Amino acid sequence: MLQCVTTLRDPLVGVTKSDVLAQAFGLYTVGDLLRHYPRRYYTRGEPTDLASLRERDHVTVLARVFSVNHIRTPNAQWGNAPRRGSQRLEVTVTDGYARLTLVFFGKGANAPAHQIREGRLGLFAGTVTRFRHQWQLVHPEYEMLPDSSMDEGLAAEHAADYASELIPVYPASAKISSWLISRSIRKVLDRLDVVADPLPEAVRDTYHLMGLHEALEAIHRPRDRADINRARDRLKWDEAFVMQAALAQRRLAAAAMPAVPRPPEPGGLADEFDRRLPFTLTAGQREVGAVIAHDLSCAYPMNRLLQGEVGSGKTVVALRAMLQVVDSGGQAALLAPTEVLAQQHYRSITAMLGPLAASGQLDSAERATQVALLTGSTKAKKRRSALADVFTGDAGILVGTHALLEDQVQFADLGLVVIDEQHRFGVEQRDALREKAPGARPHVLVMTATPIPRTVAMTVFGDLEVSTLTELPAGRSPITTHVVPAAERPRYLERAWERVQEEVAAGRQAYVVCPRIGDVPGEEEAAGKRGRSADEVEDTDGADAPGDDEDAPAERRPPLAVLDVAAALDDGPLAGLRLGILHGRLHPEEKDRVMTAFKDGDLDVLVATSVIEVGVDVPNATAMVIMDAERFGVSQLHQLRGRVGRGRHAGLCLLVTEAPPASPARDRLDAVAATSDGFRLSRLDLEQRREGDVLGAAQAGRQSSLKLLRLLHDEELIALARQEAGAIVAGDPQLAEHRGLSAAIDTLLGPRRAEFLDKS
Ligand code: ADP
Ligand code: MG
Repeated sequence: MLQCVTTLRDPLVGVTKSDVLAQAFGLYTVGDLLRHYPRRYYTRGEPTDLASLRERDHVTVLARVFSVNHIRTPNAQWGNAPRRGSQRLEVTVTDGYARLTLVFFGKGANAPAHQIREGRLGLFAGTVTRFRHQWQLVHPEYEMLPDSSMDEGLAAEHAADYASELIPVYPASAKISSWLISRSIRKVLDRLDVVADPLPEAVRDTYHLMGLHEALEAIHRPRDRADINRARDRLKWDEAFVMQAALAQRRLAAAAMPAVPRPPEPGGLADEFDRRLPFTLTAGQREVGAVIAHDLSCAYPMNRLLQGEVGSGKTVVALRAMLQVVDSGGQAALLAPTEVLAQQHYRSITAMLGPLAASGQLDSAERATQVALLTGSTKAKKRRSALADVFTGDAGILVGTHALLEDQVQFADLGLVVIDEQHRFGVEQRDALREKAPGARPHVLVMTATPIPRTVAMTVFGDLEVSTLTELPAGRSPITTHVVPAAERPRYLERAWERVQEEVAAGRQAYVVCPRIGDVPGEEEAAGKRGRSADEVEDTDGADAPGDDEDAPAERRPPLAVLDVAAALDDGPLAGLRLGILHGRLHPEEKDRVMTAFKDGDLDVLVATSVIEVGVDVPNATAMVIMDAERFGVSQLHQLRGRVGRGRHAGLCLLVTEAPPASPARDRLDAVAATSDGFRLSRLDLEQRREGDVLGAAQAGRQSSLKLLRLLHDEELIALARQEAGAIVAGDPQLAEHRGLSAAIDTLLGPRRAEFLDKS
């Protein structure tokens, strides 16, 4: 009998091509193979819709043979060279409407001719190509189905394979066909030992779910559609439940770690700061603040994700938490993803604190502390003094980039780690910071401005508690967004530049954003690719529009570049204005100089890449023109435009694009223009990405543990699973009474998967 943990290489399993299964699909064990579910099911009466084929796709189609032609070309004399005759077999198959040609050349043409006959139904697999306006598969793999009406004497084994009306179609590749996978799975199912069910019986009963063994049988060998649905419901539960149980265990373990309580101190810096605040906190800021203040007072570490719209005032919330920790004698570190953002945080924090941050100086407040800054470009002398102040504890707050993670950075007593814009940091970085508090763990607050739908938060960030700031501070000005179709309406683009001129004439400032820097070798290619790796943290240039390929015109010009656009504007529509340039390749000092000049109003227009996407805060900037806007992702555009409308004056954002009307790219831009609700947009963004992308870069190129579960569509199920799993784990933390579940968690957290949960 086979166990789920039995490896597929074991000769007793009798699976052919186990190496291909491992390489192509990450299937190593019997259990893995059984969780390789059919992508769809064909029925004999319903052949594949051939009209829906797309070039270069690897497909498995069910179709009926329409005609078979054996074509021979005789030997011939071509010029002086004699040419041997050739032969090929051309088979046309049909779904009843459209047709597809199968071509077999040379010797390969003989074998199929015996099996492929007119009128027969078969499965054909291969890569779709186009030849003379006709879809074709060259040398496809094929599997003819037994046909009751004309018994062809097929091997009995094959007949049994397709006894059911429903033919499962598996994710397959050129190296292994769907029906070979299907056959292996059936072999394994026939000899499968009783499998321990990860879902406790009580849960199965409550939600009317079938047992695991039964579900695996039903999804691979369904008797009817109802079987498939019931199996899917059940197997989806597994995915949600096992993951939530793993996360619940993690939360428990984290809560068991000691942390130093940092209770608020009446009359301390935090209170003094509140007293001096030039504005009133929003209700949300106050509520979240109270929750965090309580978390910090506990003897186990806070692990909280603070999410909130761009401009919702997360920094103030974080700063108040940092001051509470300083009041109780500890230190706080604020980690920012880019140099520009670290510097800006440093500046705004020292400004907000005023005399409270001037300890040791004449005009300091009585209980003042110091704020230190440490980035990759901090000069040796400043760096030494920052390190010393942090080491002695004179600096209560340290702001910086990942330079903070270096070994030389040693705290007197690190009590709180704040991470801004979470999505750019990997777990290793967070752990490195945590370890700077030896003995006890620091409290951790993660802030993100990319709103995360509830289910993703529950899954990807499952071991963090989540707080959300929903309202914007009063007095914010609305941002109007328009799509500027530069190709159809050149006049609109001219008007866009006039608007920038008008804003500047009224004493305000503008951003012009481009997807690319320009003049950097290899960059064109890179800008077209999407996503960025975690180690590119500092250089955030490059747009990452999802689903680029579908709507790409055949010949795309390279994306517009900062250097080219700046030059063209300077010579043309924005001549006479003071333009500055900002991108990731500038020297840090130069970046800082440009940002300061823009902030001080010494520049009218900043032409930049998406480096300005996060956190940049210049209230006097009111207009933003985004060039080649379709090259950016939906959430990214939303982040970008959050840079304007931060002051008293209304913001204007213009999305310039050459994408044709009604194209998917244009629809995306219209959606961004139509709503300012970040949650709706981030949902839209996620819907267009594949699930693996949703779970983050750690998943790239790896098998996702989620096969049936859809984070965006199975909200309710995930919430229920979280609740049930939490209860089970609370009652039996080691899962001693829940063997099936504990085994499933081990599989989930196996070496290939541990990283994934660690994302949180
Ligand atoms: P984000 O959440 O995007 O990080 P910030 O923390 O940068 O937002 O806040 C944006 C701006 O709003 C800052 O200039 C900050 O001082 C200001 N701000 C924060 N809270 C309030 C408030 N309650 N009332 C008015 N202005 C506020
Ligand atoms: Mg911020």
